[in-house]
Amino acid sequence: MKPKFPFRNLIPTFFAGLIDDPLLLIRSRPDGRHLLFDCGQVHHLAKRTFTHLDAIFISHAHMDHWMGIDSVIRQLIASARTVHIFGPPGIAERMEHKLSGYDWNLTEDYWCSFQVHEVHRDTIESSVFPGPQGFHRQTGEVISRNNRVIYQTPYLQVQAETCDHQIDSLIFRINESPAYAIDRQKLESLDLVPGPWLGELKKRYLAGKVDSTPLEVLTLQNGCASPLMVEDVAELFAQLMISRPQRSIGYISDINFSQENRKTIFQFMAGVDLLFCECTFLTADKVRAHASNHLCSEDINLLLEELCPAYFLPMHLSRSYSRRSSELYSELNPPPETQILQIPLQITPRPLLAAEISWQVNFNPEK
Ligand SMILES: [Zn+2]
Repeated sequence: MKPKFPFRNLIPTFFAGLIDDPLLLIRSRPDGRHLLFDCGQVHHLAKRTFTHLDAIFISHAHMDHWMGIDSVIRQLIASARTVHIFGPPGIAERMEHKLSGYDWNLTEDYWCSFQVHEVHRDTIESSVFPGPQGFHRQTGEVISRNNRVIYQTPYLQVQAETCDHQIDSLIFRINESPAYAIDRQKLESLDLVPGPWLGELKKRYLAGKVDSTPLEVLTLQNGCASPLMVEDVAELFAQLMISRPQRSIGYISDINFSQENRKTIFQFMAGVDLLFCECTFLTADKVRAHASNHLCSEDINLLLEELCPAYFLPMHLSRSYSRRSSELYSELNPPPETQILQIPLQITPRPLLAAEISWQVNFNPEK
């Protein structure tokens, strides 16, 4: 049975199996744009997916979360736009090393560029790698951070916090833009008549410019709809709006189970509807988990007890459990309000052996 997520704008797809390198795709329904979280095993993503890709969020640069970036670069090269990459401090240097590992003597003007943003605790530092100029790094701006938001569109925002994994590891929260509905009873009691002005009001709200200019509305006068100019549009909006809960997704990649990380997670992930979280080890291997700065299923149970998301998807199980992965699901003990999402062990067929490849000499009966 497919989960019934409560999202209006977000369509999440976890593009990896339980033991695959992680890769979360989030599609934004209203504008069709795509975001990627971590770049593990990406080679099986359809080319079309990359056409709509605007931004990539990397938790940390351990190989299993970052190595897929080469395939992403390959798919995007001829796409004539700028793609944003967000990651922890040092990610721009790693991108620079990736790109300088290839020859770029055949560049074209229509090639894409990458803007890489290093998310520090108090600042975001950006570098640009312009494809038409062979991806030579240009250091860009440093902006100060006064909140957790690192990326925003009219339909969603992405927030980031830093956790410890012996190195910095970013965790992400994706919030839908606040939703509202028009109070029809209120509309009637104010003698307002629905019309295209309601669409304009919504457009302004999504653009964050409710009060930019007066708005012509329709009011009921002598039984007829007549235009009326409203100066205080913010007040009108406040009267008509019924707000709906803001839905969100949490993504926690590799972290250790320190007191500090737990505190950060409890504050940052409170109220998420869908949570993705690494669960690399089973409880019996708790010592091994903590020694390698990862989580085990017992740690996950404590997180779930506190956060109570509607849905939880455990990911990134150690390959050493590939024959006993069902034990993970039996060890998870979520609160009654949380449903566990189960995914296959791997989502692509296993790699082939040489003997499984068939080939033949081309046979041409004409000759
Ligand atoms: Zn790691």
